[in-house]
Amino acid sequence: MITVHKFGGASVRDAASVKNAAAVIQSLKENKMAVVVSAMGKTTNALEKVVESHLRNDGKKHKLLEEIESYHLKIMAELFPSGNDQLQNSVHNFFTEASWAMEEDTGKGYNFIYDQVVSMGELVSTLIVSTYLNSTGIKVKWLDARNFIRTDETWREGKILWDETCAEIQQHISGSFESGEKIILTQGFIGCTSENYTTTLGREGSDYTAAILAYCLNAENVTIWKDVPGVLSADPRYFQDYIRFEQISYHDAIELTYYGATVIHPKTIKPLENKNIPLYVRSFANPQSKGTQIMRHAATRPKVPSFILKPDQILISISARDFSFIAEENLSELFSLFAGHKAKINLMQNSAISFTVCLDNDPLKIPALLDDLKRNYAILFNEHLSLYTIRNYFPSTIEEFYKEKEVLLEQRSRNTAQLVIREHGN
Ligand code: ADP
Ligand code: ASP
Ligand code: MG
Repeated sequence: MITVHKFGGASVRDAASVKNAAAVIQSLKENKMAVVVSAMGKTTNALEKVVESHLRNDGKKHKLLEEIESYHLKIMAELFPSGNDQLQNSVHNFFTEASWAMEEDTGKGYNFIYDQVVSMGELVSTLIVSTYLNSTGIKVKWLDARNFIRTDETWREGKILWDETCAEIQQHISGSFESGEKIILTQGFIGCTSENYTTTLGREGSDYTAAILAYCLNAENVTIWKDVPGVLSADPRYFQDYIRFEQISYHDAIELTYYGATVIHPKTIKPLENKNIPLYVRSFANPQSKGTQIMRHAATRPKVPSFILKPDQILISISARDFSFIAEENLSELFSLFAGHKAKINLMQNSAISFTVCLDNDPLKIPALLDDLKRNYAILFNEHLSLYTIRNYFPSTIEEFYKEKEVLLEQRSRNTAQLVIREHGN
């Protein structure tokens, strides 16, 4: 029986957290385990800043990279009080590789460089965690996920090549289990092209890696260990009232993540559903507690409204310059523009003379998209907005919103209401 466990950034953000994760792994009396670990704490954000600095050419990237290395050195110093030169050198080599990746001119562009640099967070983290586990007598085998997670060349959003990936997983992971390994530990979020270039799977993609492994290994179940007690009816960062779901169907989980519940990466559920592999979301701070179980035909329990908030939204109203109707030809042109800019529409509404869309206000995508839109259309837009999605709402729940907030746009279906809100102070 194989199980898959995933530890995210928050669960390995400092030495005490790594020790806690080790205790959780040790407490699991499971036969064969594939453990997926993310970059430590906010390392991925910090590495993104390095790449941005490289792009701006502001001379700060080396200092930023050194700060990230120091953060890892501090964690290592606490985990290995008598030092571990070999580990320290290996970690240093990964950071050197990141530096080189920015100097080398491959002509493949910014997103390519991003993947070569940002992937180092996972490589370094897993090296530290696996070395620590082995030092405490929990024997694990470190594997480089780039040997088995095969993707195309969509930098920053690598698409999984399923047949090749499953074949490699069989060879590398099943092979390790067959030769007697009990625990293999690998990186989430990263993959590799056929030309051996590193790719990443999209931010927060480590949950997805866990699902890919589970799918290809026909695992019994997957557990993702989080800083929350399970899937909650609202994100505790934004809402005061919430409860834990005991169980959720795959379908409800897909919808929750689709609308922006960031507790699980949206791509995680589908591969699990296809093989009917249950997913557990559990608290690493309280590993005895039950968490949330996500599985086929599970009636979502308890049945309460769930609230999802997407911050930093932009609402763009698009109309033809001559105030004619927005017709099918325009819409087809508009959709290909959005697709071309890889701008995902969170909500859209068509009226007689305008087409309105709500999107994540991504500084790397939206300014260029607006420039393109302005070529043929008249554009109005509002920024600093939030998109609230309420599933299984009661009419009174929506009325409360209108009392407290300025609603710019609303859409309702039988189960789901979506509101674009201007937050106070903006
Ligand atoms: P990881 O450490 O695996 O990267 P994340 O930070 O990505 O973990 O995911 C956990 C966070 O997801 C929680 O701290 C919480 O703020 C947020 N979150 C958003 N929606 C929900 C929800 N419905 N239930 C629980 N947590 C949620
Ligand atoms: N480290 C990556 C990120 O922060 C992947 C993950 O943690 O899921 O996006
Ligand atoms: Mg995360």
